[in-house]
Amino acid sequence: MTLKTAPKTRPRPQATSKTMPATRQRRQPPSLEMQLDRVTAVLKEALERQDLAPFYAALRRTDLPFFTARHLDDSRGIARTCFDILQRLAGLSPAVGLAIKNHLYVTAALATFPKAVPGLTERSRSLLSRVAAKRLLVVNTSSKVHADRLGTLGTRAVPDGKGYRVHGTASFMSLATQGDLLFFLTLVEDAGLAVFVIPLKGRQDVEIGPLLFPRAMVDSDTRKVVFHDVFLPADCLLAIGAGNLMSALMTFQMSWHQTLLAALSLGAAAGAIEEARRFLRTVSGPGGQPLAELDGMMTDVGRLVIRYRAACSFVHRAGEQLEAMAGRALDPVALEQAFDFACAAKYTATECAEEVVTRARRIVGSRTFVGSQPLERLSQEVMFGPLAGEVHALIERRHGRRALGEQEFPPRRW
Ligand SMILES: Cc1cc2nc3c(=O)[nH]c(=O)nc-3n(C[C@H](O)[C@H](O)[C@H](O)COP(=O)(O)OP(=O)(O)OC[C@H]3O[C@@H](n4cnc5c(N)ncnc54)[C@H](O)[C@@H]3O)c2cc1C
Repeated sequence: MTLKTAPKTRPRPQATSKTMPATRQRRQPPSLEMQLDRVTAVLKEALERQDLAPFYAALRRTDLPFFTARHLDDSRGIARTCFDILQRLAGLSPAVGLAIKNHLYVTAALATFPKAVPGLTERSRSLLSRVAAKRLLVVNTSSKVHADRLGTLGTRAVPDGKGYRVHGTASFMSLATQGDLLFFLTLVEDAGLAVFVIPLKGRQDVEIGPLLFPRAMVDSDTRKVVFHDVFLPADCLLAIGAGNLMSALMTFQMSWHQTLLAALSLGAAAGAIEEARRFLRTVSGPGGQPLAELDGMMTDVGRLVIRYRAACSFVHRAGEQLEAMAGRALDPVALEQAFDFACAAKYTATECAEEVVTRARRIVGSRTFVGSQPLERLSQEVMFGPLAGEVHALIERRHGRRALGEQEFPPRRW
């Protein structure tokens, strides 16, 4: 694992224990990797006890949700660190991984927005610094609702004096009861789409409703939200407009969303391969030979590993393309390509993860469901990967339409 944050400046020569007096020697803070080890152990126990409160308390004490604030001048490594965090957490619970993914994708997008809207970079930096300083968890909703017309937004805002008023319902908000800061998308009358940011804890006017998925995906804490005529002061507005810039910002944050959804799904795939490994090494065939030594088992697992690795490469590349856009002038063509790439990575990785988990389950057999085996949880939750984020029919159509256009296939950039 390569959990490292890129240094902001060229490293200075370090004082060593030989050159520094004992009284001046300070203990180094634990590396992100060590923090991830600890928090993963807490999550394991919390899942067994069916009480995630200790996990969230432990997570907030680490730098893991807040590392992006250290990348304001150098975006390199953001995607890789997000992947490492999500791989480990989703390897135990894809539902928890999905909840944390929402915080990570919003903060990663804030840290890497291309230069597009005047003032947005400064606003994003200040938000990220506040998130890190106060150790806040971020949630978001696109205000989508399940209606008889696809893509319906359930909330509306209207200008009101020095601010806006918003009312209505959003069907989905993951990490809901842990969230401190809510980013939400809504439609403002006569002005177009807008993104607002508001504090969430302890409010009466934003009602956090029941679990949307009350069985399989409980630990994603995905809930309905109702806005009861909420007054939003003007400084809660992050971006607004009906034009190309707003659509570019939406596309950019969606690209991070797809990429990190892919990453967490691959965490589930990795967790399943690990469960297959444990089983195959500890159980022997009738002849006394560990199943892991059977040639057929090696090739079966090898196939899974190759698929997993191929999807990982795809997802890493999607993430690197996004972090490379940080602070640069917005290039609409490059953004569109990065979005398509991120969607294709999400499509590939979520479907790959579902298949890897299914095949690992067939290797382990019915003991998957005896007691509380990790593979049982992975089996139930991994299927949500393809259902979350961009709808697969849309991804397929966009890729198909482009491939069947006037330009020769394959396009140069792929
Ligand atoms: C576990 C989970 C957690 C989530 N958390 C959040 C969150 O925190 N915040 C948030 O904003 N959102 C969240 N979402 C919502 C997510 O971002 C997507 O909006 C949602 O998953 C889209 O899936 P849907 O089934 O609701 O799509 P729908 O739009 O209802 O589509 C249903 C089906 O219709 C078909 N279909 C849809 N569109 C088309 C089309 N254009 N062409 C052809 N067929 C089509 C497809 O078969 C599709 O599966 C979450 C979703 C899940 C599953």
